[in-house]
Amino acid sequence: MVCQGCFTPAETLVCRQCRVSLRPPPEKILPGGVRLVSAFEHTGAAARLVHGLKYRGLVWYAEMVAETLAPLLPRAPLVPIPRAWSRFARYGVDPAREIALRIARINRVALVDLFRRPIHSARRAGGDHGRLPASLAIRTPAPGGVLIVDDVVTTGATMLAAVNAVGSDRVIGVVAANDATARSTLAGNVLQRS
Ligand SMILES: [Zn+2]
Repeated sequence: MVCQGCFTPAETLVCRQCRVSLRPPPEKILPGGVRLVSAFEHTGAAARLVHGLKYRGLVWYAEMVAETLAPLLPRAPLVPIPRAWSRFARYGVDPAREIALRIARINRVALVDLFRRPIHSARRAGGDHGRLPASLAIRTPAPGGVLIVDDVVTTGATMLAAVNAVGSDRVIGVVAANDATARSTLAGNVLQRS
């Protein structure tokens, strides 16, 4: 077996060295006052693992993320940010939904497919490739307070679009497998919780 975090021979899917390298990032408050809880910092093994989930169907990582996040979250319906059809068809996995499904099962809360799945993802310059358009279409009205789920928060732009679409008064918090916002253009606006 090969460690999915460093691709060296290992007895488990994530070797000991990679496992101890997985760090939780500090909770953040996104612009608009919405709380962001992430499982891991988007570096090293965590970045390779989420890449495996997105492009190689490594849904096992979704399980690991869900087990990490579930105890940290309030009991509220989970709303995954859908992957565009073009990418879903190509890679056969919808990462945020895989994570949300597992958190829902652990915490015994509902999963609500609130957003309409876009046909194509917007390709943007500047590294946030393959992300959804800046606006997300709502399929059904939000059922009270919800938690929005995504695989990686890169610049925070997609997450903010999702929050705005649902209404920030309805969003209890946002949840991500990996947090890369420290390296994003939004970093100046992202405040660490004191
Ligand atoms: Zn490893």
